[in-house]
Amino acid sequence: MRIACPHCKDRTITRSSKRPAPVFYEVYAQCINPLCGWAGKIYVEFATTTAPSRSPAPEVSIPVDPASRQRLLDQLLPETT
Ligand SMILES: [Zn+2]
Repeated sequence: MRIACPHCKDRTITRSSKRPAPVFYEVYAQCINPLCGWAGKIYVEFATTTAPSRSPAPEVSIPVDPASRQRLLDQLLPETT
């Protein structure tokens, strides 16, 4: 994933990250443009599930994407005609 600098739109490099929760990362980013020099923190969150895990972790809860919910229900409960 390529993250552009919010100021000069050049590329950023990520320095390190913390993971305070299973679905959340804090990533430290730095702009590669020496004339800019911006650095800061990026939040990355696992927002929705579009396909469920086959080995789900009990402590992880990521809401099912609304558009995917009906498709998943159709797979679980095949329509009988
Ligand atoms: Zn920049």
